[in-house]
Amino acid sequence: MGQDKKRKAELRQAQRDTGQRYTRLARETRERTGRGFRLAELLAECATFPRTSPPWPAGGPDGDAFAPDVFASQLLGEPVPFGTVLALAGALSEEGPQARLVLESVRSGHAAVVACGARRFQLVLSQDMANELCRTPRCGSQMVNWAIVYCSSHLAACRSEDLVAMAQTWGYALYEEAGQTPERGEGSHEADLLVQAAVPRGAFREVSTAFLHACFEDPQVLDEEFWDPDRALAVRHAMAREELRLLRVAERAARRIRQAAGACEGCGADLPPTAAVLHLPPQFCSRACAPPPPPSAPMARPSPWDANL
Ligand SMILES: [Zn+2]
Ligand SMILES: [Zn+2]
Repeated sequence: MGQDKKRKAELRQAQRDTGQRYTRLARETRERTGRGFRLAELLAECATFPRTSPPWPAGGPDGDAFAPDVFASQLLGEPVPFGTVLALAGALSEEGPQARLVLESVRSGHAAVVACGARRFQLVLSQDMANELCRTPRCGSQMVNWAIVYCSSHLAACRSEDLVAMAQTWGYALYEEAGQTPERGEGSHEADLLVQAAVPRGAFREVSTAFLHACFEDPQVLDEEFWDPDRALAVRHAMAREELRLLRVAERAARRIRQAAGACEGCGADLPPTAAVLHLPPQFCSRACAPPPPPSAPMARPSPWDANL
């Protein structure tokens, strides 16, 4: 859905929810969004503003007994739960209180979206909750997880080097989590998503290798890492199993793309066998036919320096 279309759909929903006129809602939203403020200003409101009566009927926002305490935020132009602001502050703890926020959108009574540099957060207005969103502007989906900072559909638009970086971060995370268990990281659904995003770019090997080396070990140094040969063998086997599993995931993704394309999109020739297409975009017969990757902004990472501008 285009950005404008999505904004209009949100306004129509808000119109149904609140009974207000569409044009008034559109004007108010335009006036509020795009406004910048510091996290400290929002925290000051949270610390000093009184509890106010919530905008939903008795019985809570969802008809159940739970209803968070809210205050009337001037910065967001909406009643906001205290806990939602505190959850946002927790998520932005590394950026510090001077972190600069921009209000991206508001859906009255439901949620507001604020951006901090490249990071985006959905502030839930009916619960004590803030969710970090995909870094694609105006996307309403959550990130796959803290290490994979786009939603599963926008991963496909990421550059190969960004997919490699995320695969490495996620591999290390699984390594840290599982400690010395040889089977660590086997069967990770998140690794599948990264591989599926890498295949159309011809970057399967790079992404798969980055993940495997981070999650298990670089095979070159595996024997030095584990003095116990039985453990070294167990890790080697686990890594080989996961490598094969990811290869199967990639082959299925490549097959789907090849079937949809039918023939090379560059020259019309027959497409090579699946094994070959794992090194190049599966819809092309050779590197010569594949266009250079489209220019795209490098993945925006959270940076305390950006946030403090
Ligand atoms: Zn997204
Ligand atoms: Zn070709």
